[in-house]
Amino acid sequence: MTNQGDIDPGSVQPVIIPRPEHCISRASISPSALKVLYRLKNAGFQSFLVGGGVRDLLLGREPKDFDVGTNATPDEVRSLFRNCRLIGRRFRLAHVRYGREVIEVATFRARHEEQPTDDDHSAQSDEGRLLRDNVYGTLEDDVWRRDFTVNALYYDISGFSVVDYVNGLEDLQTGVLRVIGDPETRFREDPVRMLRAVRFAAKLGFRIHPDSEAMMHRFGHLLEDIPPARLFEEVLKLFLSGCAVATFELLRHYDLFRYLFPLTDEALSHEENGFPLTLVLRALENTDQRLAEDKPVTPAFLFAALLWEPMRLQMQTFLDEGASPLEATQVAGNQVAAEQVQVTSLPKRFSYPMREIWMLQTRFERRRGKAPHRLLEHPRFRAAYDFMLLRSEVGEAPAELAEWWTDFQAVNAGDREQMVEAAPKKKRRRRRPRKRKPASTHDE
Ligand code: ATP
Ligand code: MG
Repeated sequence: MTNQGDIDPGSVQPVIIPRPEHCISRASISPSALKVLYRLKNAGFQSFLVGGGVRDLLLGREPKDFDVGTNATPDEVRSLFRNCRLIGRRFRLAHVRYGREVIEVATFRARHEEQPTDDDHSAQSDEGRLLRDNVYGTLEDDVWRRDFTVNALYYDISGFSVVDYVNGLEDLQTGVLRVIGDPETRFREDPVRMLRAVRFAAKLGFRIHPDSEAMMHRFGHLLEDIPPARLFEEVLKLFLSGCAVATFELLRHYDLFRYLFPLTDEALSHEENGFPLTLVLRALENTDQRLAEDKPVTPAFLFAALLWEPMRLQMQTFLDEGASPLEATQVAGNQVAAEQVQVTSLPKRFSYPMREIWMLQTRFERRRGKAPHRLLEHPRFRAAYDFMLLRSEVGEAPAELAEWWTDFQAVNAGDREQMVEAAPKKKRRRRRPRKRKPASTHDE
């Protein structure tokens, strides 16, 4: 089967894989997800594990989270769980929380042709984008609303079998990401599915089916209509899931990166000596490595690295116009952040530290007097230092400076004093005559 665009979903019989013939065991499902599955079932509802949980367990991988599909409506789900919150307008879902774990419970969606096109429950834009999708249906309907065949496998808690309507198992075995239905229609309905295709291809090492690939090359611009808040969430999933390097390369390959970071894409497109790209790649490599070692990662650092090149270019323009380094960093930082939030939002709790990381970069050059001691005390010192290391790794900051700061942290107070006394003076920048004061912009 190459494409399901011409299939009549109503006529498809599922393949049912009984428990002895698949590898999903309840022992590998989180106790919280099992609780949700059983409580729904015991209340008389259908209750399935769906999506990435089933996909990853069948691949022998540890799922990131567990998603549940049911014929209970969101309100019925809420009445069954005290720890439950209904979220989403476009796509209403129940979140059942156990400590830090959230189990996402989605009510089966109805098929489109059975839905009224524009009312409180369901609506489409002129481009074919689904603005709301809250008409409920059966499992047989729900299958066709999912994005990729490998994400449309259902594990039935009532008999422990796996239900496959779309040949998802075969695609799972051969490593293919195939859109369910007609790729153009499905990408128009929700352009974020193109980003999801990239994310899963990078994470699973799957290839994207050529029919979908062709559409991804053509329809990237549809991402321009996606609300910035949703793109921000997607950026975090793309770059903070442990496969950031592969994801970045695929995003660039399909020319989708520019719909997430237009300023960066533009800056990278006329790089001359390679180091801006190298800095981004090194930052992403770092992120992947930290995640592999279970170390924390922060969106502030990620955005600081991804937006550094446009930030640096803008800063240079202001310096050339005679602004002081402090002024140039501040104003360029505000401008770049303000432009970025038109595309992906960036909550203040991340954009402030991002700009602090940038602002602190020039302060590393001041190694005499009290300045280095004060910098060391700065709450954002560690992130800024890591960022400076990155800049030095790609040849943008002197290796000697990075080494000095590494040593400065390691030695005791007395030795610190000696280091400060022996440190080279900061080279004085010759200020050019002021041409114009950079216009200040508002943040976010
Ligand atoms: P992850 O490992 O990232 O959690 P996932 O496949 O579980 O991967 P989720 O975002 O958790 O992804 O979504 C759960 C399931 O819901 C998906 O597997 C898919 O079946 C369905 N789904 C999610 N987003 C979409 C979408 N935009 N369009 C269609 N189906 C979607
Ligand atoms: Mg999931």
